[in-house]
Amino acid sequence: MTRAGPSIVIIGAGQAGARAAEALRAAGHAGAVTLIGAEAHPPYERPQLSKEMLLKTDAVPAFVRSAPDWATLGVDLVTGAEIADGDIERGHVAAKDGRVFGFDKLMFATGTVPRRLPALEAGPIPVHYLRTIDDACALRRGFVPGARIVAVGGGVIGLEAAAAAVAQGARATVIEAAPRLLARALPEVVAGFLRRRHEQAGVEFHFGQVPVGANAQGVVLADGRVVPADLIVVGVGVDPVVGLAERLGLAGGQGIKVDAHGRTELPHIFAAGDVALQWSRCHDRWTRIETWANAQNQAIAAARTMAGQDSPYGDPPWFWSDQYDVNLQVLGDAVADDLVLRGDVEAGRFTLIALRAGEVVGAVTVNAARDMAALRRIVAGRQRPARADLENPAFDLRRAAAPK
Ligand code: NDP
Repeated sequence: MTRAGPSIVIIGAGQAGARAAEALRAAGHAGAVTLIGAEAHPPYERPQLSKEMLLKTDAVPAFVRSAPDWATLGVDLVTGAEIADGDIERGHVAAKDGRVFGFDKLMFATGTVPRRLPALEAGPIPVHYLRTIDDACALRRGFVPGARIVAVGGGVIGLEAAAAAVAQGARATVIEAAPRLLARALPEVVAGFLRRRHEQAGVEFHFGQVPVGANAQGVVLADGRVVPADLIVVGVGVDPVVGLAERLGLAGGQGIKVDAHGRTELPHIFAAGDVALQWSRCHDRWTRIETWANAQNQAIAAARTMAGQDSPYGDPPWFWSDQYDVNLQVLGDAVADDLVLRGDVEAGRFTLIALRAGEVVGAVTVNAARDMAALRRIVAGRQRPARADLENPAFDLRRAAAPK
């Protein structure tokens, strides 16, 4: 069918690409929309890959919508196609299998890929990464009672995998290069709390250690010790998929730089989701925001701009993690120097609020989701509540969140 209006191609059919395609139609875009993904699956949400999908054998992936529903929406979904080439001036991109897709406007929603550890892959123990449905299904099969799981990286992937492993009767050890958990994302007090919760569940830790290889006995650490392992799961961060963008003339590097409307440095070319390098007011620097919420909402804002609307995006970064009975939520820059504690760490229910020059720029809640709902509004609205109110657990943060 020929459609009136500019045709739009979205490279990357993850959360960002999918939500952008939906938002284009919601914004009234009448031209063609082609959503191209390298995986065989239609777009799905990733948070549950390291949560329900690792915990329940009957968990099914959370597809954004079914393949026929994409057609009903008027989106040409192309799966199993890896875009390898193209010409921005001439307005087309080409898949490895030779298919060519013409566009008037193009969005990169190419996401990230897990960093690999080839020294471990060279050994005899199976090494898993976790990014896709197929990765999650393969990993889950290894979480059997008594299996010795070694998680390399004490970030969100390593910790959620360790929690899921011990919940199924496996044994888990986490090897972390830094002296503590989640050093870039979480304040010390939260990292310590999480560590203790994992230790109660039987997880062991090696801090300040990097694996140098694997042999038949297990994972070999730099100091020569060997951590027994039947399965290794690696979560040592991700790299943005920028190779194609660079070949097509964008700067790339640590991410594709975009403005608040998702526009890149080239006209009619946009980027969204994990791959987009954005200005974060909370962090006071350019950064990629590797969260589900950003993949959804920044992509929607960029799509609206592509459809001719004025829709700037600037939500404070926010993500959550579930480990055992702990719901952790992290907002903005939660490791600022000036931290206010609300609640009782030992009781397992508390909030840390990060201030910079009196402004709330971030927060972490542990089993305190109601605080987080208010804090998201406080940070977005640049409110400056009194410190005494923030410290007082009896003070309802929703009062501070209300616009003055
Ligand atoms: P993270 O960046 O969260 O954590 C990686 C950790 O591994 C860091 O603590 C890092 O230490 C450590 N590390 C790096 N290299 C080594 C090494 N060679 N040996 C041992 N430790 C090492 O990345 P993840 O891989 O856990 O997560 C990948 C992505 O998935 C992230 O973007 C994350 O946001 C997302 N994700 C989000 C979830 C959520 O929101 N709940 C759940 C799961 C994934 P250092 O800091 O010193 O480099």
